[in-house]
Amino acid sequence: MEAKWRSLVNHIQDIHDHDTPAFSSCAHAPLEGDQRDKEWLEPGSMAAVKLEGIITRTSLLKDVRQLSPQHQTYSLEAFHSLILHFAPKHTGFSYHGMYSRLLLAALHYNYNANRETARRSDGLERYSVRYPRFRKGAWVVVPIKEKASYGYATSLIEALRESYMDSPKALQEVSPNLSACAPAPIAKSFQQIPKEEAVSLYLAQQTRYKKLN
Ligand SMILES: [Zn+2]
Repeated sequence: MEAKWRSLVNHIQDIHDHDTPAFSSCAHAPLEGDQRDKEWLEPGSMAAVKLEGIITRTSLLKDVRQLSPQHQTYSLEAFHSLILHFAPKHTGFSYHGMYSRLLLAALHYNYNANRETARRSDGLERYSVRYPRFRKGAWVVVPIKEKASYGYATSLIEALRESYMDSPKALQEVSPNLSACAPAPIAKSFQQIPKEEAVSLYLAQQTRYKKLN
């Protein structure tokens, strides 16, 4: 696991074969097209050296050694899909909006990380069989967890209420900025058209189309 982690230093500089026997080449398929043309870090550049310093920091390496590869992939995938839940890709968010959504996703994830396995009415634990991508077709048994809860939201609102009680003014100064960051509801940015007008425009278009053909 540590060798795999260290290989990151090479990978970001477009080097995918490594001199450690424990992890001699990257796990990804040979890179082609767009994947090939990434903006790799220049070997020896300031950015590459700085990043290498972060990746190989002793305290971090110590943690990496404790990771089990499978479990890590699974919970990381779970976290990524959770981020998509809070910040769907098809919607553009402001920096502030995206930042808040990422924080919410992290709160939700941590708050629900240690859920108990759900039970059937007869008391037996519930499991499901999955075929995760990283197992390449092999199955894994996954315990079905109890429903996620949103208790952190109540704590958030409570904290917000308290800080408002403490200094209403400070909060009021912040909130206009926040609302400026929120995207306008889509309905507001579109003009509504009366139904009859829309229908007659549509019919006129159809007639024109028929004449052309
Ligand atoms: Zn690579």
